[in-house]
Parts: sequence; C-alpha cells; structure tokens
Amino acid sequence: MSELYKLGIKEAAEGLAAGAFSSVELTQAVIDRVHEKDGEIGAYLTFDEEGALAAAEAADEKRLGQGAQSPSLLGIPVAIKDLINVKGQPCTCASKILKGYVSPYDATVIRNLKAAGAVCAGRVNMDEFAMGSSTENSGLGVTHNPYDLSRVPGGSSGGSAAAVGGDLAIAALGTDTGGSIRQPASFCNIVGLKPSYGRVSRYGVTAFASSLDQVGPMTKSVEDAAMLLQVLAGHDEMDGTTPKESVPDYVKALEGASLKGVKLGLPKEYYEVSGVDPEVKRITDEAIKSCEAAGAELVEVSLPHTEYAMAVYYIVAPAEASANLARFDGVRYGHRSERSDDVFNLYARSRAEGFGPEVKRRIIMGTYVLSSGYYDAYYGRASKVRTLIRRDFETAFQKVDALLTPVAPTPAFRIGEVQDPLTMYLNDLFTIPGSLAGNCSISVPAGFAATEGAKLPVGVQFICDAYREEKLLAVGMAFETIVRG
Ligand code: GLN
Repeated sequence: MSELYKLGIKEAAEGLAAGAFSSVELTQAVIDRVHEKDGEIGAYLTFDEEGALAAAEAADEKRLGQGAQSPSLLGIPVAIKDLINVKGQPCTCASKILKGYVSPYDATVIRNLKAAGAVCAGRVNMDEFAMGSSTENSGLGVTHNPYDLSRVPGGSSGGSAAAVGGDLAIAALGTDTGGSIRQPASFCNIVGLKPSYGRVSRYGVTAFASSLDQVGPMTKSVEDAAMLLQVLAGHDEMDGTTPKESVPDYVKALEGASLKGVKLGLPKEYYEVSGVDPEVKRITDEAIKSCEAAGAELVEVSLPHTEYAMAVYYIVAPAEASANLARFDGVRYGHRSERSDDVFNLYARSRAEGFGPEVKRRIIMGTYVLSSGYYDAYYGRASKVRTLIRRDFETAFQKVDALLTPVAPTPAFRIGEVQDPLTMYLNDLFTIPGSLAGNCSISVPAGFAATEGAKLPVGVQFICDAYREEKLLAVGMAFETIVRG
C-alpha cells in the first residue's frame, strides 16, 4: 500500500477498480513520494496538492456512482509538462518570462484528461520553451536523472521523464518537436510515444514549432502509453491539423501483439553515422537480434536524405519559434521590464530579461532565416528538402511495417558536460527525421549501458507510418515483452 507510487496506469486502474485502494490514497502516495525524493531529483516545478486531493476525492465519488463503467484513467494522477495549460495553474514553460502567469483555460488534452477523471496537478520541468535535450536550459532549475543524479534526464521533457522514471508520477505528458519525448524516455528507462502530426490536439499547448509539435504519453509501459494516447487523441475543432476520422482502439490493438512476420526496416544511413556510443550500438544490435529471434523479418532500407534532416530542422524549428515567441512582449503575459520608458524598450528589455540564452539564439536564427531576401533561400528550400525526407519514409513504408533505430547517440551525459550547442543538437540525430516527416515513433527501454561504472538506461526507437499508432504500439509491446523476459 505504501508503495502505490510505483504503479503504472494499468496496475493503478486495476487496483482502483478492484477497490484495493482509493484515488485519494494513490494521489497521497505520489505526493509523499515527491516530498521524499524530489529534493534530489527536481522533476516538479509546482504541485497543487490540495487541488490534487480534491480531484482525487471527486474521482472516488464518481467511481461509486459508475462502478465498472468508470473510465480507465479515473482517479489517476498524471504529471504535466509545464507548457500545457491547465486552468488556474501556472504555465511557465520553464521560462522567467512567464513567471507569475496563470492559465485562464484548459488545453484540449487537459480537457480530455479531466473528462476521463485524471488528476492533473503536478507540473514538471523542461528546457525553456522546449528548446534543448537535457533540461539544463530550464530557467527555473536543474532536473537530475533518477538513475544517476550526476547526469541529465534528457530533454526537453526531462521533468516528465525523471518523474515517471523515478516513480514520482504514475505517468506524464510530454511534448516532442524533434525528439523531446523519445530521448528523455530513453535516458530515464521509460516508454515515450510521439504521435503522428495531427493525432493529438495542440490547442492550449504553448507553441514552439507549430508544424512539428506533438503532445504524447510518457509512461512505465507500452500498454500505459496506449491507454493514455486513447484519451489524448482525436479531432479538435480548435486545431485544424486534427482529422475528423475516429480514433482506433489502441488498447485492443495490443491483443496478441507479436513480432512474428513483422517486416522491420533498418535504415542504413542510421547505422553508418559515426559518434554513436559503443554501448548504444551493442544494445541496439541486441535489440535487432532479439526481434529477429522473435520472428521479425529484417530488411535493410535507405532514407537517402537523412543527412539533411538536422540542417532542415534548425531552419524550420527556429523560424517557427521566432514567430510563435513574438507574443511574449511584456504586455500580455508574464514578466514586464521595469526599466522601460517607451514601448520599444518595453518589448526589448522584457524579452532580454525574460528569455534565456538558447531561446534567444533560436529567435535570432529564426528571424534571420525568415528575413526578406533570405526567406526563399532558407525556409523555402528547407521546406522542399523536408518533402524529400517525408518521401524517403513513404518509400520505406511501402516495404516494411516499422523501422528500428537507436533513439539517441549516447546514454545520459553528465550535467554540465555538453557545453557546445551543436553537440547538444546532435542528440536528436535519429529522432528529427521522423518529426519532419510527421510519422509516429516510440522509445522503448532496451537495456542498460555500462558507462564509467554507472548503469544507464538506453531505449530503442520504432517508427511507423503516419496514423499507424496501432501497429507502432503492438510492435513496441512485443519488444517490451522480450526485454522484460
Ligand atoms: N532538442 C531539440 C531542440 O532543441 C528538440 C526539442 C523538442 O523536441 N522539443 O529543438
């Protein structure tokens, strides 16, 4: 009973349904665990404990009325990345510029979660405005990897990953623009799913790069990811990129999950890059072998435009970010400089004081590539190359069901170890192409790297064609079953 915080969604839902414990007890166990452990991990920025317990109590009452008809997320606490709006709670995006801002409305994903009875009260750390791969760019504090406190949890959804990986949450929401769900999931030994672009509404999620951003589940198992995605996914009138078609039953898609006869593509460009940690190579090779032993058919495929993905991303993402972040001007939200005597200074100084260095770097890059005379040369051309990258995947998916690749080139690195922004950007080498293509992918724990005496988690990535989340989850679950033995 005292270790309820260790549960995932499925086990917690079963326990709640069986009456083994209440949502108040479950939520209290998570709160106690946060008090005990978060001093050293630093996953949470804020936790509305009173609100959490009130929501848990309401969920317990609802269950009395609904019994077996209760939705599966009823009464389950979910940690929320601090860029997703929850009415009445702070939403800082881990930026000083949004200090003191309180959300006036719920994001659609939160509306969906609340409708299912989930408890959304804890807000977790991230890289400022989701720009980064280590959570070190947070303007509000450091988050430590629960598997080795001297190391980063990954990023930008590092707080989400550390909370779930350290058993400080039952599950969490993250966002992924170029890898921010998958890479921290790999670093913290959890499952992270980036849905296809448009699968989940972005309404109420602070925009970083609008043509890439997706919200997704970060969980203790693939089945938990399916359960959470079920609630998040679907059409939303407030987000024109979400199609009207109905959402498949993701949990049902897991029945009889198997790798037998599954055509697994190994993109040769991903296996030719230099600089991949030998332990990551070993774990990925073992994953490939065990998939083959479980009946998967391995197929070498080529994604010939992979080498341009990083360059394209660092034009498209900063360009969109520079436009999206223009709204933080000291007038409407958060921080306002006190040293301003005219409107230009008000904008300039509020932004200079409020944004951290990486966000400024992106705004400057983005403004440059969008400036008149350069637009066609940069953003225009990058968009064309992006189409080629998308076609590479489409061609590959005519031959295979899923791709298997590493998630990130290394396991979790030490806090402070990566100083150079370009080295930091390389973390997303294997995740960015899929983001540009808009397909879906999942990071599943695959093993532990023996690095400098530490045991560091490493995941592998499966990628499926857009809107094939059922297939992705089934493949992920079959692999998870092998790893768990
Ligand atoms: N690390 C990448 C970046 O800094 C991706 C971030 C993300 O997916 N939000 O842009």
